[in-house]
Amino acid sequence: MCFTDTRSGNVYNDSRKLILQGIASSGGLFVPQTFPRFDDEEINNFVSLTYCEKAEKILSPYLLSNNETGYSKDELTAAINGAYNAETFASPDVTPVVPLDGNAYVLELWHGVSAAFKDVALQILPRLVSSAKKALGDVSKTVILVATSGDTGKAALEGFRDVQGTYIIVFYPETGVSDIQRLQMTTQQGSNVKVAGINGNFDDAQRMVKAIFTDTDYSVKLASSGITLSSANSINIGRLLPQIVYYFSGYCDLIKHGAVNCGDTINIVVPTGNFGNILAAYYAKLMGLPVNKLICASNRNNILTDFISTGLYDTRRQFFVTSSPSMDILVSSNLERFIYHMVNGDSVRVCAFMDKLKQDGVFSIDNDTLNTIKQNLWASYCGESQCAETIKQTYESSGYVADPHTAVAINVYNSYKTQTGDNSPTLVASTASPFKFATSVLSAIFGSAAVDSCDEFTLSNELSQRCKLQIPRAFDGLSEKPVRFTDSLPKDGTDIYKQYINSAIAL
Ligand SMILES: *Cc1c(COP(=O)(O)O)cnc(C)c1O
Repeated sequence: MCFTDTRSGNVYNDSRKLILQGIASSGGLFVPQTFPRFDDEEINNFVSLTYCEKAEKILSPYLLSNNETGYSKDELTAAINGAYNAETFASPDVTPVVPLDGNAYVLELWHGVSAAFKDVALQILPRLVSSAKKALGDVSKTVILVATSGDTGKAALEGFRDVQGTYIIVFYPETGVSDIQRLQMTTQQGSNVKVAGINGNFDDAQRMVKAIFTDTDYSVKLASSGITLSSANSINIGRLLPQIVYYFSGYCDLIKHGAVNCGDTINIVVPTGNFGNILAAYYAKLMGLPVNKLICASNRNNILTDFISTGLYDTRRQFFVTSSPSMDILVSSNLERFIYHMVNGDSVRVCAFMDKLKQDGVFSIDNDTLNTIKQNLWASYCGESQCAETIKQTYESSGYVADPHTAVAINVYNSYKTQTGDNSPTLVASTASPFKFATSVLSAIFGSAAVDSCDEFTLSNELSQRCKLQIPRAFDGLSEKPVRFTDSLPKDGTDIYKQYINSAIAL
């Protein structure tokens, strides 16, 4: 299958190279040029398959090819089986579906090694990277740069640690991640890993990483020392494609639950930050999954809600640190891909929007494009107090303990139902374990007195006891692990970042 660069419009057919490269040299992102389609009967046949078998059906058309320019079937099968098994995911279904109430079902995406949905893609991506290098005879060292709002960092560190021929450096915002999230990263084991806090927010981290990727002089210098840069952020198409699989898997589980008959349409609600997860749901729809509305849920950083209601994307606004930090983002990278599809692949227009965004921090789209977007998406947001209220109400009405990101999705879904009267079966993507945000969850359910002067580990135990939930094994031993990384970087200065990278990889 071929992929197009959203900005140059150039077409590429070697999936292995694109996954190694991460981002196009134009600064654009790779998107599938066409989408394989499955009809109802084929989807119905997926119901009896394992998660790995489904992944193979869905990923093969994108990644395999019968000539030399793509993964071989054996490479893909090995990557899938290595990524999704009893060691990497605590649930045999990988991404189980749990009934919430009425026609709503939670698609739990957080049973992996870091307890957030990022594991689904970041368990397979490193395997695809390493088999691509092997197949292409690429003996360079691949340095993975990651900007994280909290969850990508740990998932990527786990995925890439001790993967031969790779080195991974993670930049996280010092204020804005939860204590558990920080410790998960700063205690990371492995001989090829480095973690630095930055004195800024996620957008600063993402901007610095993008600046380094598009610095051609620096790439040339690195190349002369046998080093290539790559990305584990959702700008890498190898992050995005594996996320399509769980929407099919979730739909199959709804068929199993008797909640839908094959062919019935569903809604999918996604708590959104960088727009990757919801874009994967849109790709699932393009592939034939019967989806009516994609519901885009934001927190107080509601730039996407405003964009989808007015067509104006305006980053010149205050940035809020919220209790759902993984969605504290103003520049949603994958929106570029979605807009590319919405303007029918007109890369000249995409460039114009992105240039405007870079120069002025704002761009706007025309009414026709906005209407096309509205046919696919329904968007709203949930403030901080409503998020806490939703955690409490959800627990009281259905016994379900939602983390703050999932609660944002549930809240927005409730608004959707009230405003549209649409009661059709719905999958709500649950993106993190509540134990990752024990303080917020406990205080929402039992009041702020419940979390007075306690550390997050005590609170995890408390949450486990009071709500009768098992603590995910992702947190085993975390409180005893030594902190290995304490570096801190300013939020600006490409040179400082380059020096940091150079010294990390001993250049
Ligand atoms: C990353 C993340 C999100 C946002 O996902 P995007 O693909 O960036 O939209 C939501 N919730 C959690 C818990 C996350 O880690």
